[in-house]
Amino acid sequence: MSRVCRPIQHRNGSTIVFQDNTYIDFSSNDYLGLSQDPVLIDTFTQALHKYPLGSTGSRLLSGDYDICHTLEDAIAQLMNTEDALLFNSGYHANTGFFRAIVGKQDVVFADKLIHASLLDGIILSGAKLIRYKHQNMTHLAQLLRTHRQAFSNALIVTESLFSMDGDIAPLQELVALKNTYHCDLYIDEAHAFGLYGHQGAGLVEEENLTHEVTYMMGTFGKALGSYGAFLTCSSATKKRLINQCRSLLYSTALPPAFAAVNLKGLSLLQTEPHRRQSVRKQALTFRQELTKKGVSVLGQSHIVPIVIGDTSSTIRLANSLRALGFWCPPIRPPSVPEGTSRLRLSLTYHHTSHQLCDLTKALADSTI
Ligand SMILES: *Cc1c(COP(=O)(O)O)cnc(C)c1O
Repeated sequence: MSRVCRPIQHRNGSTIVFQDNTYIDFSSNDYLGLSQDPVLIDTFTQALHKYPLGSTGSRLLSGDYDICHTLEDAIAQLMNTEDALLFNSGYHANTGFFRAIVGKQDVVFADKLIHASLLDGIILSGAKLIRYKHQNMTHLAQLLRTHRQAFSNALIVTESLFSMDGDIAPLQELVALKNTYHCDLYIDEAHAFGLYGHQGAGLVEEENLTHEVTYMMGTFGKALGSYGAFLTCSSATKKRLINQCRSLLYSTALPPAFAAVNLKGLSLLQTEPHRRQSVRKQALTFRQELTKKGVSVLGQSHIVPIVIGDTSSTIRLANSLRALGFWCPPIRPPSVPEGTSRLRLSLTYHHTSHQLCDLTKALADSTI
């Protein structure tokens, strides 16, 4: 059965309206509920009085604006890194980065469940790709021991918070292995940026490992409710990427108004920490309540996956929830491995405890 797009006509917090019906949305990445934030929308509108609608070119030609540099400085400051580079999206960052940094003589060790954009980027680079079992540090250590020596540079790649499993990578162990085997470490913080960390900078910051991680990728498209992404790196690496990263060179740069809105979004992480605290607290309660009612969930975050297994049962469950007003589209292969189709419930700042209670009850009562 092929998948189809469903056009939303209107969104209001966690409520989405389609032509035929209205649902509570449990599938968006608008974790902090910022996609409709009046302050951000006002910032965007103001920026359009100053800047053009589009950037009009790639950054090396005419698409570079002062606001992009201000934003990159602010990212580097928040992330506590030497430098940062703006990308159009996380997909652009991940698909473009590797080819500029590693090649045939190098090796990439990557978690089996890394996001498709990382996988595509690594394949494009031509580096040898060796995958370790999901979150399995014993397996990674064994592969490093066997294969590291035969290559020039080595890079370990993982997500900090896995998008389809909701679980968190053992960052300290990854850092230890990276040091033992003289590797670099690339952490995709797509789902953790904005939600974790004392400053909201992500899980690496939360675990005080910033100076041990070579590269961090974060997106503005998820918790920050906007669009665009960034990579943290050294200034030397940034220079290299600006000259060699093809997704940067051969694509129209991010519209400057998005840079302005993302800069404002970063400041909201400082001034409105209650957003991330609230989502994390709700997630904890939601998980406890589901478990209490006998519904088993994966992971330990605001992404709450319920693995059903076979795709048609998952679709049936999603449909029955939809009839009750919950929008929880089924996740199936190739987004997840065969036989592990699931519902992936993502919690946002706008979900009320009442809505979560109702969904818990619906899941507990479902017969699948
Ligand atoms: C969503 C996602 C990306 C892509 O980020 P966009 O800004 O949406 O293109 C990259 N990595 C992971 C793990 C993601 O979940």
